[in-house]
Amino acid sequence: MVVVAPARRLLRGDSTRYRITGDGLGSDDSRALADVLQREINSGRCEAYAKIREAELATLPNRLCDYCAGAGELTTQHIKLIEERRATFQIGSVDEFFGLMHKFRVGEKCPCCKGTGSLEPRARSYPFSVENVQGFAAFLRSCGGFRIC
Ligand SMILES: [Zn+2]
Repeated sequence: MVVVAPARRLLRGDSTRYRITGDGLGSDDSRALADVLQREINSGRCEAYAKIREAELATLPNRLCDYCAGAGELTTQHIKLIEERRATFQIGSVDEFFGLMHKFRVGEKCPCCKGTGSLEPRARSYPFSVENVQGFAAFLRSCGGFRIC
């Protein structure tokens, strides 16, 4: 992780692979991180990393659907799982995903995987590009500091 490693040295909050909360950078550190990122871009390491990551993502196999466990259609157990997730998610998020107030039926094609039983690897949901890093560096240079909420 050519770009992430230098950035982590500047961030000090509660960070894991998937989240960084309660952290942020002041104006000086924001500009310092922008400089680090710009050096990574200018050196070509950022683009090299992007190509390696893209090649790695292309080799990842699909994963079993979270909702139907690969069956492609819903059983009573799957419907119960969906209903439980509806109850625990914040208002609307799962309903928006599956269709507002949709009543699922046993044997129905799984709405998550559209009946295929598999989904793309989660890592493909997190795009990386030199353009994104460049945009973040521009933000850091002009933001005057920020906090992650
Ligand atoms: Zn499914």
